[in-house]
Amino acid sequence: MATSSASAGALLHHVRTGRARSRAELVALTGAARNTVSARVDQLIAAGLLEEGGRGWSTGGRPPTLLRFNSRAGCVLAVDLGVTSVDVAVTDLSAQILATVGHPIDIADGPGPVLAEVDRLAQRVLAEAGLTPADVCAVGVGIPGPVEFSTGRPSHPPIMPGWHDHPIPSAFGRYECPVYVDNDVNVMALGEMGVAGSAQDVLVVKVGTGIGCGVIVDGTVYRGAQGSAGDIGHIHVPQPDGRTVLCRCGNENCLEAIAGGGALLRDAVAAGLPVTSTREVVERAAQGDGPALELVRSAGRTIGTVLAALVNFFNPHRIVMTGGVAQAGAPLLAGIREAVYGRSMPLAARALEITVSDAPDLSGRVGAALMAIEGYLDEDSVLQAIAR
Ligand SMILES: [Zn+2]
Repeated sequence: MATSSASAGALLHHVRTGRARSRAELVALTGAARNTVSARVDQLIAAGLLEEGGRGWSTGGRPPTLLRFNSRAGCVLAVDLGVTSVDVAVTDLSAQILATVGHPIDIADGPGPVLAEVDRLAQRVLAEAGLTPADVCAVGVGIPGPVEFSTGRPSHPPIMPGWHDHPIPSAFGRYECPVYVDNDVNVMALGEMGVAGSAQDVLVVKVGTGIGCGVIVDGTVYRGAQGSAGDIGHIHVPQPDGRTVLCRCGNENCLEAIAGGGALLRDAVAAGLPVTSTREVVERAAQGDGPALELVRSAGRTIGTVLAALVNFFNPHRIVMTGGVAQAGAPLLAGIREAVYGRSMPLAARALEITVSDAPDLSGRVGAALMAIEGYLDEDSVLQAIAR
């Protein structure tokens, strides 16, 4: 949102994200006339979206009345749909979780049974929070596959058989509100930016069963021409020993076929480790088990070679690692840093931060909530709220 705009939606956005706390700060931030800002703030207060509370520090003259966003003006449903589990939460308009519940599912059961389960969980969290379907202002859904964002329909999702072109928003008809659907990596990227958002260029890299990347440009998710930006899991990675590994996409030596969660488990079993899941490999590495550590570090180096190319191309401020494999923490980061700092151009690498997500299990739900909130509080919706 351009800082020069002084529309009601823009003013609300500035207060909600903490960029302005008073009418005077809104005037300074937008450059708009004091009367214009005051009139629109009064409308937002009348609509219940802003509140006055307390006095700020005076910089000479009367101390300003502080403004704050009324995050209890509504609630949103956040759905984090995974391959083997789903988490549903109801949050206030600051993405604070009011109630949440998770349940195992099999995404391959198809949209009918899976979305029926989501519906049941959604009703449960609303009841737990003492809310009703009529209180829900918007719904945000993250799914583990490509989505046409404008329609909320999955597009040939490789690990979601039966979901192609299914109108996911129609499963939420009872809420009579907008429904936003995006792939899980973009949603997690929003969650990593948080309520305040960011003006930075960031890559949020999810390493789970697959590998994907949320591309944040100047604080906004970049989706590309068809919505598939950041699909780095199928970038070709040459193997020094000449080995070829078949990827589920049909090509050979894709990044995720060599360094994804499935690959990690396959290589651990081949090395004789007594493990049956990627989670167990990650746990052993986190506990310092030598062979598991080396496998995770090696996956980090492979991911790092691809990230080094992305750093040279995109010059991000930050890279945040998330997903199940990222929970291995230090050994994965060590491998990634080794490759990225060794291969990126010095100017791009100089101030680059590479970190692991603080709350990888939460960012899917928080991101889905933020996607719904941003949609609900866009310019047009805020104008409608004021007109009511
Ligand atoms: Zn592939």
